[in-house]
Amino acid sequence: MHDEVVKFYVDNYEVLGQWMLRPGVRTELGDKDNRICRFCGEKEPKVSFKKVAHAIPESLGNKGLTSYYECDSCNELFGKGIENDLGNWSKPMRTMARIRGKSGVPTLKKGGDSPGWRIEFTNGGFEIKSYEDDPVFEMDEANNRITFKLKRDPYTPVAVLKAFMKIGLTLMPAVEIGNFEHLLAWIRDADHSRPFADKCPIIYTFSPGPRPNDLIGAMILRRKPVTANVPYAYLILMYGNEQFQVQLPSKAHDGANAQYSIHPFPVPRSPDPQFDRPGRTLLDLTAQEVVRGEVFPIIMGFTVGEKTETTRGNAGQDNQDP
Ligand SMILES: [Zn+2]
Repeated sequence: MHDEVVKFYVDNYEVLGQWMLRPGVRTELGDKDNRICRFCGEKEPKVSFKKVAHAIPESLGNKGLTSYYECDSCNELFGKGIENDLGNWSKPMRTMARIRGKSGVPTLKKGGDSPGWRIEFTNGGFEIKSYEDDPVFEMDEANNRITFKLKRDPYTPVAVLKAFMKIGLTLMPAVEIGNFEHLLAWIRDADHSRPFADKCPIIYTFSPGPRPNDLIGAMILRRKPVTANVPYAYLILMYGNEQFQVQLPSKAHDGANAQYSIHPFPVPRSPDPQFDRPGRTLLDLTAQEVVRGEVFPIIMGFTVGEKTETTRGNAGQDNQDP
């Protein structure tokens, strides 16, 4: 970890909350006896609070972190809407990282009527079914690399962005939530054509090598009062091999056309000297049109004779006749 990066975050940000979620640990956010929905502002009896509201979607592997301040109507609105987009968008990587959602590690399928490839996590390993005329992966034996060409289910990019920001708003301490009125209204708006957070790319880091598949890390950062030239707030979310640094724009505290120059948040225990350095990119999830049939390549290294932890399982081609 570079000192300069650490100094940047120490100088500019305060950690308002951090969570390391492990299986079996339960944490409830908010006040059970005084429930007001943070997203629509309503309370009982106008809205009900019967459902368990996950602070981070269950599909990403969260079982234990829930909140008392998301009403059933908002829960349903998000679940059928933006969280479904986030689920579809993130599924290929979650399968490869063996993240367990509500019903285990998601199975990836080609889809459609004709029989096609299928990747299923079963009995502690991957079962990969591929067909010669339509292979789901390509082996590069010279370089010990395998490229999976996975297809994403339909998603709307800006809805995925809203779902990430909704996680940040859920984790935000109550005293700060008044600074995010516009963002709260925007993520609830099912009309994805209304621009708001259109200058907020997600800083994405992928760390190669085996990582735990049952831990989720999350953090809320807020700008220190003494500084001004950095975004007001961030959500840092990590699971599997991925880390997302999501700006949470505050109309009151972020300039309308501000240009920021920041260091990406460092990844804990990284780089692992055994593997490639983490890869970083900016994810622009601002497009408002549905994306269908997107192919998402995942490149993995393997060792001959023994499978690496990353692929962990049967990466051999299984040519069964349909
Ligand atoms: Zn609500």
